[in-house]
Amino acid sequence: MDDSVNARLNRVQERIQAVCRRAGRNPSEVRLVAVTKTVAVDRIREGIEAGLGILGENYIQEASDKIAALGAGAAQWHFIGRLQTNKARHAAVLFDWVHSVDNLKLAQELDRRAGVLGRRLAILVQVNVSGETSKGGTTLDDTRALVDRIGRLDHLDLKGLMTMPPFFDDPDRARPFFASLRELRDAIGPPLADLSMGMSGDFEAAIEEGATLVRVGTALFGPRS
Ligand SMILES: *Cc1c(COP(=O)(O)O)cnc(C)c1O
Repeated sequence: MDDSVNARLNRVQERIQAVCRRAGRNPSEVRLVAVTKTVAVDRIREGIEAGLGILGENYIQEASDKIAALGAGAAQWHFIGRLQTNKARHAAVLFDWVHSVDNLKLAQELDRRAGVLGRRLAILVQVNVSGETSKGGTTLDDTRALVDRIGRLDHLDLKGLMTMPPFFDDPDRARPFFASLRELRDAIGPPLADLSMGMSGDFEAAIEEGATLVRVGTALFGPRS
């Protein structure tokens, strides 16, 4: 099989289109976030040339180096990793979106930093649907209150919710976690619209359950070393 990013991207796009057809969804409702952690700059550039427009990074320092090499305007940059409050300034400088906001202190600091920079930051509230202690995210019960508080911050543009289900070999087992996130979004309502869920192993199930942003690394770039 052709291992180029271009060929891998074509296969991922075909799978997204096929699942959208099955699920009766418009493929334009599903945006692909190409997860580039540990991927070399040359290979990311290959991806951008193949048409990747949204890049997801997990670590501030790694992302900072790549953004310096590729240019801030080369793609829309999404932060998807764990974010400590003391790194909020860097995140507000470097990124267009942050998927992993899970507490009010972090949101307030991102808001303040974005304000200083005269910009608005798109964010998602990360929800720990499974309750696994190893995972970031607010609890299902606390999400509504956090959404209400974040909605009042001037420099954040609250787009929706994000989750990471437990890892399963069988993607169907992740489905209930995706469905719970969709139900929570629907119960809270506006301004929540986006659902960031699904990775290489389970993005099709996530799309069937309503994902609007899928975060895909391995399927686009091959296994990480
Ligand atoms: C690494 C990562 C992904 C992508 O995982 P793949 O299985 O390589 O597609 C998605 N989301 C988050 C938060 C990640 O850390």
